[in-house]
Order: sequence, then structure tokens, then C-alpha cells
Amino acid sequence: MLKMKKNMKNLKKTKIVATIGPISESVEMLSKLSDKGMNIARINFSHGDKDALVKIAENIKKAEEKTGRIIGLMQDLQGPKIRTGDFVSGSIELKVGKKVEITSKNILGTADKFTINVKTLFSDTSIGDRIILNDGYQELKIVSKNKKEKTIISKVISGGKIKDRRGASFPDSSLSFSSLTKKDKEDIEWFATKYKPDFIAFSFVKTAKDVKELRNILKKKKLNPMIIAKMETSEGIRNFDEILELVDGVMVARGDLGVEVPAEEVPFIQKELVRKCNMAGKPVIVATQMLESMIVNPVPTRAEVSDIANAVLDGADAMMLSAETSVGVNALKAVEIMAKVSRETEIEIKRDLNNIIGNKGLPFENQKISEIITKHAVSVADEIDTKAMAVFTESGFTAFNVSKFRPEQNVFVFSPSEDVLRKITLSYGLYPAKTDIVNTILGAEDLAKDFLLNEKIIRKKDNFVIVAGMPFRNSGSTNIVYISE
Ligand code: PEP
Repeated sequence: MLKMKKNMKNLKKTKIVATIGPISESVEMLSKLSDKGMNIARINFSHGDKDALVKIAENIKKAEEKTGRIIGLMQDLQGPKIRTGDFVSGSIELKVGKKVEITSKNILGTADKFTINVKTLFSDTSIGDRIILNDGYQELKIVSKNKKEKTIISKVISGGKIKDRRGASFPDSSLSFSSLTKKDKEDIEWFATKYKPDFIAFSFVKTAKDVKELRNILKKKKLNPMIIAKMETSEGIRNFDEILELVDGVMVARGDLGVEVPAEEVPFIQKELVRKCNMAGKPVIVATQMLESMIVNPVPTRAEVSDIANAVLDGADAMMLSAETSVGVNALKAVEIMAKVSRETEIEIKRDLNNIIGNKGLPFENQKISEIITKHAVSVADEIDTKAMAVFTESGFTAFNVSKFRPEQNVFVFSPSEDVLRKITLSYGLYPAKTDIVNTILGAEDLAKDFLLNEKIIRKKDNFVIVAGMPFRNSGSTNIVYISE
């Protein structure tokens, strides 16, 4: 277990996931990102060779040692990339109204016929379904199917020039292949078994079946990361409720999502998914283009600041930076600004504690009683205007429950399990404290007081609230609220 040694004052409650790349992969930069407010480092398995990915993972461990702070590790799987094939002379011009034949066979494409790399193209699509190409620049509509050739005939709705191997998506179709690719499985095999990521982000999830497949693979390898479903396909959004039941958290992956659905629908999908995750007590990340202009500029646009504030107000547990921290020249500043805007906005969050009770939530027994106790703990903490809360938890259950009620105080988590302390890095307001074991509430009080005083979170005369399940070794229930005065 790491020895916590750095300043824990001034913590924001909304967490920051920062994507690591060439600009941020050194131990020095990773440590500074953590100083500025990065809680989780994301390694994107769509880029970089094995050596580069290993170097990032090793450096994250070193940065943890250097800062004395846990940095959650997220392995973001590439997932299936649906693409066109290559074209004669590198590109084609699609003309509005023209018919184009699409095949799953690998051919050198023309404006009359080209490849999309989905084997089940013919059987998985219907007449009337749309095909979106090249980040939304071109759109086709299926008008007929050629049974004999197993190809589909589409009409160009919006045209233009398209180059080799551009992305394609089928927002109206149910594609039957698994979202977990051979590469994803290999990446789990060589990376996850060695580096034990705390979170695995599952790209292009479409169905509950996809999630079950990933869960089974992880179980067989005795790995237990939180599965974060990246919501970025129309089909995934249609199946969201069944996916949410099976995953541990969600990412609203607005980049790819904004290609599959009209961009103007994305803000409402964001609000709906965040609300459902909040109700279920599962952490949710809002991702992509949050500080896009800072990849090159030293200050954010007003619209970007608003986007961050609105994500916090919507109820996001975390926000993600992509190119801003992997290749952007203002990576540190971007994290600093995101943290600052979060802190300012968190004060404005309006909570309705009663509205959260009794909703389908965490997969534990005694959820209802635990929720009632937790709700009261959070409201007691507010009423006595305490500076901090301390949670003692074996499985993380009590901590996730407290986070669900969005306390105004930061919540310091004590658990004998380092795994739990690593996983709470994604949840609103929760911070890892210690892995020491205690058997009594007075022991818990002493331990928490020492920690909070040492970290200068409270002063000697300040009170704080403890929430716990007793006896401590009995996980899955919350039954104690204690005020230390
Ligand atoms: C996204 O599409 O918004 C996203 C987060 O996915 P990726 O960065 O992996 O493309």
C-alpha cells in the first residue's frame, strides 16, 4: 500500500480521467498531472505499440510512488473498428443521389462499389437503414439488397470525397458480431493479467451479451476490474438499461456517439445516461472534447468551461480528457482548469436525497436499509456542517453508497483492500485514505482523526462523521453513523 504523503486539501469531488500519450507519459509529467487533479490515467489501446503501452503503465506505477497518491489505471480497449476498404487512387467522390454497392469482400473500391469490413453486412442490415461514413461527412441509405452477391445497394444522401479506410457506422442496424475483438482479448491477455488495471473501458458495447462475454473472460483470468461501458453506438443506447445492470460504470463517449446519432441529441443522451447511472449508484464519466481548444491554446473557450460545469451539474462522477492530455501542449493547464471549474460548480449541485432511495442500485443485499442509513449520514453531515466524512468499508459497498448521495464533504475511505481504494478513484467525492484494519468504532474514530488531522483536512476542534458497516469484516451492509466531536 502506498504511503499517502501529499496534500489532500482543496480536493474536488468530480474526478478527472486523463489519457496518457507522448506528451504526458514521463514519470515527471504523470506526477504533475496527479498533483493538478488527475485521478485516473487512461491508456488508449487504439494507439501505440506494446513497448509504448508498457512504458506508460510502468511510469504510472513510478508516479504513484513519487507522489504517494493512488492513480487509478484504465485500460481502454480498442473495440471493433468498422471501416471502408481502400479505393483506387486513394479516394473516391460520392455524388448525391447516385447508387453504390457495398460488399464485405475485400476489393479495391470505386464510386460504384466498395468494401465495408463487416462480414455479416448482408444479413444484419435492412432496406432503409443508414450508413454513416467518415465521421458523419457522408451518409448513405440502403435501398435494396443483392441476394445472389450478398451485397447491399445504397443511395448517397450526403456526398463528398472519402479517402481509404475511413470509419463507417450503421446506426439503424443490429450488428451481430461481438464488440469484443480478437485484439481486445489479446490485449487483456498480455496487459491486464500483468498490470491489473482498475478499470477496463469496453468500446462500442452494443448488448448485455457483449458485457457477459467480457466478464467471463476476466473471471477465467481471475481479474476483477470495474467494467466501464463506453456508450458510443445507437444500438448500445437502445440497450442501455440491460447493459447498465451488468457493468460497473459507464462512459458517455460523445465523440463516436456524435457520429452515430445527430449531434444535437448528444446533450440529452448525456443527461439521461448520467441520471440513470446516478440512480443505480454506478460511476459515470462524461468524455471527449471537453477542453479541445486547449490542445493548442493556453485558455479554454467559454463554451468548454460551460460544458464542464454542465457535466458536473448533470451528475457526472468523472470527466475525461483525451488529446488534451495525451498530445496537447497545455496538458497540465487543462487538468488544472477542469479541476477548478469542477470545484466551483460542485457548490451549486442541488441534491434531492429522498429521490435516490429505493431505486435499483448496487448489487448488494440490504441495499434499502443501507441506503436509508447513508442518506441520514449525509444529511447529518450537512446539518452539523462537518468538514469531512470517513467511511470504513470492506467491499467498497458503503463508500459507493455514500457517493451516490453526493455529500457536500469529501469522503475519506478506509478499507483493508487496496483494490477497493483504487476503484473508488472514479467515484464522486471519494478519496482513498488507509488500509489499516480496526475492530471497534472507537478504533475507527482514532484512525480517522489521526489521518484527517495529519492531512490538515480538519483541525483539532472540528467534528467529522463516520459511516460504517459493523462488524467490519461483514461486507454488504451499512449500519453505523457516528459523529466524532
Ligand atoms: C469517444 O468516442 O468519445 C471516446 C471516448 O472514444 P475513443 O477516444 O476511444 O475513440
